[in-house]
Amino acid sequence: MITRRTLSVPGLGPDIPYFDIQGRGDGPRLTVVAGVHGTEYTSIAAVREFVRDLDPEQVSGRITAVPVVNVPAFWARSPFVVPVDGENLNRHFPGNADGGFTDMLAHHVFTAFVLGADYLVDLHAGDLPEALEPFTIYEESAVEAASRDLALAYGAGHVVRQAKEVRTVAGSTCAAAADAGIPAIIAESGQNGLMERDAIDRHLAGLTNIARSIGVLAGDPSPMPEPCRHEGWNWLRADRAGWWQPAVATGERVPAGAVLGTMSDVWGEVFAEITAREAGTPLFLTTSPAVPADGLLLGLARD
Ligand SMILES: [Zn+2]
Repeated sequence: MITRRTLSVPGLGPDIPYFDIQGRGDGPRLTVVAGVHGTEYTSIAAVREFVRDLDPEQVSGRITAVPVVNVPAFWARSPFVVPVDGENLNRHFPGNADGGFTDMLAHHVFTAFVLGADYLVDLHAGDLPEALEPFTIYEESAVEAASRDLALAYGAGHVVRQAKEVRTVAGSTCAAAADAGIPAIIAESGQNGLMERDAIDRHLAGLTNIARSIGVLAGDPSPMPEPCRHEGWNWLRADRAGWWQPAVATGERVPAGAVLGTMSDVWGEVFAEITAREAGTPLFLTTSPAVPADGLLLGLARD
């Protein structure tokens, strides 16, 4: 049975709608969330379509599906951050009930949807000013093997493992879930806020294969091709504000020392050449030329 519910949190603005799908028999509990970043539309579309096409008779266990976690960001068309306080929700998990707006939102989302789940899949995409090559992330943790299995079942061409002591992103859904003993991944497909059909389909296929592989959905999972596996990241940032002109494309491996792009001033004078300290593959890339000081330029997944 598919039930439409809302999570209402006093003081945190609009309710968060979600689907509660109770299957026929016993089985694991899978939580699927999207829209932690409110303008990553392919992820939101994939959750909507996954539930629309789901036959609850084929479910054993329970699936909780949240199409838009960050409702204020969705309606404000706000990339990366919660518009109320300018904070990135995916840096605040597991949250804090006594913190600021985003801390509280993270706390209630984590408590309601993640704690108690057996698995967490968090769907993302490149944000409005961001190109992206599809990939999944899992964390070093006590549940690392099960998290890696989720990543491999999703089937993206690139999989990034994040070691605990060098987490590029602290406070993410999948890091907080893994620390709580819940196997989890972040899966990325889509870019620049575009509703690209193939990007939505990739999320749908990955999610369906994961659901089959953990037994919450009937049917045999498909074997996926072996991905490029990466150990952590180099995230490159701008020292000072300027016009960012990338020289590489997402998904193309670059050698150590390669020029990744340039920064220039308003007059067109180049003041910095951005180079790769180590070899790697750009999996996401800022496509807007307007980059503030300390702004993110690209994420280079290490070999
Ligand atoms: Zn995101």
